[in-house]
Order: sequence, then structure tokens, then C-alpha cells
Amino acid sequence: MDRLKSIQKEKDIFPEYRETPIGLLLKYHNLNHDYDSYDSAKLLIGMCMDNRKHLHIPDNFAFIIRAGGANLRYSEFKVSYAIGVGNVKHLALIGHNNCGMVNLVARKDIFIQGLVNNAGWDKEKAEEHFMQFAPMFEIGNEIDFILSETERLRLRYPQIQIAPMLYLVEDNKLYLIKEK
Ligand SMILES: [Zn+2]
Repeated sequence: MDRLKSIQKEKDIFPEYRETPIGLLLKYHNLNHDYDSYDSAKLLIGMCMDNRKHLHIPDNFAFIIRAGGANLRYSEFKVSYAIGVGNVKHLALIGHNNCGMVNLVARKDIFIQGLVNNAGWDKEKAEEHFMQFAPMFEIGNEIDFILSETERLRLRYPQIQIAPMLYLVEDNKLYLIKEK
């Protein structure tokens, strides 16, 4: 966990984020900062679809794109929309530990059987579906993936400030990921 910076007071927030909507996200969620009121979004948040995660932020503060593993590779039009039309200039990319998008192949049989039982698919179709999409959605390791996704998005949107973060499901807090 030495790759994570825990945020317990304002000074823990990296200086480059402190006076930005990224810093505000950390203050609202981790530091119980009083909610301000917003009439437009200030931040774009990319986070996993996982049900264990809930952010404490004011109404209207952020656009949120939820996708398995906080993988935005297949959500890029929505990212562009938040920037182009929504006018946000900051992105918090939030992965979390124990993410289901790590080591998907270990859940292949459950995945297939679940689609058969719950959705009424036939086994062959479910298997094909898994084999086609699992490689696209596998993230490998949560922290490494968030860092590489951050790098990719910085190249794609060079004027947008992007902060890689991790949400720990044990304490429901956000941590900044240290970059080299
Ligand atoms: Zn996840």
C-alpha cells in the first residue's frame, strides 16, 4: 500500500490538486467538507460499476461514468461529451481494490453458468460472449491499470488534469495513487 497516499487532512492532498475540483472531491469524500452548491458540474469522475462504492459529493458537482474497472476505453465519447459540452477540465479516475475486472478468467465458468441460469442464454453463446469480451475488459492489476489508463487519457486530452485514485472497499476512503 506504499503506492497510495492516504488523505486525512488537507495538506495530504498533492499541491497540484489542492485548489482544484479534484482536491474538492477528496475534501468532500474523505474530510467531510461542508457541501457547496453547484449549478453545473466541475469534475468528471470515472469509476467502477462495483456496488460497494458510494461517493459523498454534493448534487450537481460531478459527471460520473461508471464502467467495470474504471476502464474508460469504451466510454470515450462520454468523456468527450463531459469535456466538450459539460465544460469540465478535471478528471478523477478511481479504481478500487478487489475489483471483479481483475483475473476475469478465474470467473469464466461462473459467468457462463450465470448467464445460462439468469438470462436464459444457451451455454455456447455465453461462452462465445465471454471469450470475445473478457480480453477487452480485463484490467490485470487495479493500480497499474489506473496509472496506464491515466497516461492514455492524458495523451488523448492534453489540457485536462487527470488524477489517478484508488478506493479501498474496507474503509470506503479515496487514496491518491503515487506516480513516479
Ligand atoms: Zn471493480
